Amino acid sequence: MTSPADRLQALRARIDAAARAAGRDPATVTLLAVSKTWPAAAVRELAALGQADFGENRAQELAGKAAELAGLPLRWHFVGQLQRNKAAAVARLGAVVHSVDRLSLARALGRAGVAAGRPVEVFLQVDLGGPEGELAERGGADPAEVPALADAVAATEGLVLRGLMAVAPRGAAPGPAFARLAGLAERVRADHPGAVDLSAGMSADLEEAVAAGSTLLRVGTALFGARPLPSPEDESHQSHGSQQPG
Ligand SMILES: *Cc1c(COP(=O)(O)O)cnc(C)c1O
Repeated sequence: MTSPADRLQALRARIDAAARAAGRDPATVTLLAVSKTWPAAAVRELAALGQADFGENRAQELAGKAAELAGLPLRWHFVGQLQRNKAAAVARLGAVVHSVDRLSLARALGRAGVAAGRPVEVFLQVDLGGPEGELAERGGADPAEVPALADAVAATEGLVLRGLMAVAPRGAAPGPAFARLAGLAERVRADHPGAVDLSAGMSADLEEAVAAGSTLLRVGTALFGARPLPSPEDESHQSHGSQQPG
């Protein structure tokens, strides 16, 4: 068994090596620890080691951990499918939302950002194609629609456009998919110079993501270990959106 400290150190070494191999400064790559399914105690342990950014994919789980860990200087990220009726709860926590893939959700988050008195930082999730796996989140905008969605988000009060996000397609090499994502990000940046971030790369493909210019790696398994498979009950709760936050 390795300790969280060992895993974090090994992961940082892996990220540094990937950055150097790509001719990049490792300081330009931020590690986002995806703590979904793991208890608040696991977050606390990594926070004590200096990890500040954490990601969740369910609004209720995010709200619970954020409340339990309210005293810590953490930055929360939401990386799952988000329903409009959960936008306000996520915005109140100051979470960065990585999964904006439609205008209706962007508008709901913008209203929530205005109401919360601080703009919501968002990434537009891009569908890179390929079969959907159990870890790949459904959702993501058609790449052809992303420039127009970026324009709309940039024009929406209460939102700050940080950049694009994607999950690599399963069963295909991640490199070419991330390269397509990077090309699209460059195009968006031409119109929106502030959208400098790229959220790409997970435990299995972070090297390819860093090579393509990722600035934010979303890593779960390599930090926390293998997650138990979600139960069918969890799945139906998620797809029906029946759970209430808090
Ligand atoms: C779970 C998840 C991750 C982390 O995946 P690992 O393979 O465990 O590193 C990253 N991004 C999203 C959107 C996720 O849902």
